[in-house]
Amino acid sequence: MELTLCLIKPDAVRRDLVGSILYMIEKADLKIVAMKMLKLDLPLAQGFYHVHKERPFFGELTEYMASGPIVAVVLAGNNAIKRYRELMGATDPAQAADGTIRKVHAISKGENSVHGSDAPETAAFEIGYFFNATELVG
Ligand code: UDP
Ligand code: MG
Repeated sequence: MELTLCLIKPDAVRRDLVGSILYMIEKADLKIVAMKMLKLDLPLAQGFYHVHKERPFFGELTEYMASGPIVAVVLAGNNAIKRYRELMGATDPAQAADGTIRKVHAISKGENSVHGSDAPETAAFEIGYFFNATELVG
């Protein structure tokens, strides 16, 4: 059993896609074990994406992530990190495989509807960024 962090990003919340995305996640047999809606301010968005702070898109990315509400979701399952990355699809929706969340819902490489952890260490950091151990249930 492995845990991973999903964020439903502002572009998707704004377009009322929370239910559709959670439906795809549940259909893929990933278990929701924690969930909350929140609105990041800029420092919180910058802290979450600190690994990208030298990238040219960092300013645009963090301003976008602070532009509206998001939903943070912890998912559990065997091989959950890799399986949820596959369900999300490629960062750029134009490159994403058919049936993936980003192919179906994303607007662009920046406004790509969902985040997913990419390794056990990043998952641990990212889950801890939004949730206490007592908030993980199921
Ligand atoms: N991003 C962007 N332009 C790029 C690459 C990434 O705006 O050229 C944004 C996009 O929202 C992406 C996030 O930065 O989801 C984090 O990038 P990463 O390479 O970690 O992609 P992910 O893991 O989300 O697929
Ligand atoms: Mg990433």
